[in-house]
Amino acid sequence: MGGDAARGWEGDDRMTVLVTGGAGYIGLHTVAELMAHGEAVVVVDDLSTGHRLPEPFAQVPFYPVDIRDESAVASVIERHDVDAVVHFAARSLVGESVQDPLLYYERNVGATQHLLRVMIRTGVRRLVFSSTAAVYGHPDRTPIREDDPTAPVNPYGETKLAIERMIRWCGEAHGLSAISLRYFNAAGAHPDLPIGEDHRPETHLVPIILQVALGQREAITVYGDDYDTPDGTCIRDYIHVMDLASAHRLALNRLRTTDVRTEVYNLGTGRGHSVLEVVAAARRVTGHSIPVVMGPRRAGDPATLVASPERAQSVLGWAPAHTDLMSIVASAWRWHRSHPDGYEENLHSM
Ligand code: UDP
Repeated sequence: MGGDAARGWEGDDRMTVLVTGGAGYIGLHTVAELMAHGEAVVVVDDLSTGHRLPEPFAQVPFYPVDIRDESAVASVIERHDVDAVVHFAARSLVGESVQDPLLYYERNVGATQHLLRVMIRTGVRRLVFSSTAAVYGHPDRTPIREDDPTAPVNPYGETKLAIERMIRWCGEAHGLSAISLRYFNAAGAHPDLPIGEDHRPETHLVPIILQVALGQREAITVYGDDYDTPDGTCIRDYIHVMDLASAHRLALNRLRTTDVRTEVYNLGTGRGHSVLEVVAAARRVTGHSIPVVMGPRRAGDPATLVASPERAQSVLGWAPAHTDLMSIVASAWRWHRSHPDGYEENLHSM
């Protein structure tokens, strides 16, 4: 990895950030962001949904470990002098969670319980947790503020909320200092490094639309056009993955410089876009007609999810750099066009 991104691991005597799930989409972009800002990083990922770290990350200490394995995680923490954990490792698909709720309790709540136990035992007090807008369920008002009621409508959101609460109790009992970041809809890719979104199977809107533009799918099926929204399709707040990554770095800085107990922040742009608006943006970006097929609603989908990012902006000093949909879709398109087979093209062997 050239320049900035390589600084994190050279001759380090500082503390290290443990990134769980660092081989996943948002996790890997956050690893890149942290390293570009001089952080030493170590990644733990069981590769159940992530990819082996691509070539630019070949020197990042990587452990193919399940976070439920407490002794393995404890030894990583001790070997690398870890002072903070950024915790992404989780199952994260709404539809899958509705089909298999116990999987989500086991892999999200249960696994985080193990991680917290290890952190408490090894004296690691700082935690940035990957949460979600799905904790709000069908929100009463928009944009959503952090103090608005939480009432998840699917097991994915339910398990993320349960973890937020578990973290809060551990804050009170054990002095854990934690920030939960409630992401809205992540999209886009790193501007310089060959990393981007590549889920197997892909279920997310932006990559699926771009796969149509690449000729890998015939059409995009829109999950419902009878919602109470202007064009009848669901509205989401699409946030660039690098803006999410920078929020993790700022949260980490805050944990290191301020006496935080437990805090929660929404991460979105504050602007909502319907599924059909995302398709229209992708048509403009790609020049492809992108055929649309109307389908039934997907279980567990609220009609509208739009963030109020005010708290993250005022307290963390977070300023998303990519606030318009076209630039987010264009960023995703650069990755998909140059990596039509995702990570399959450029893996390094471990
Ligand atoms: N969506 C869709 N067709 C697809 C995938 C997603 O209409 O093939 C819709 C989905 O119903 C939701 C929005 O696109 O309203 C974003 O879905 P995604 O799965 O990307 O993220 P989520 O909102 O579940 O986190």
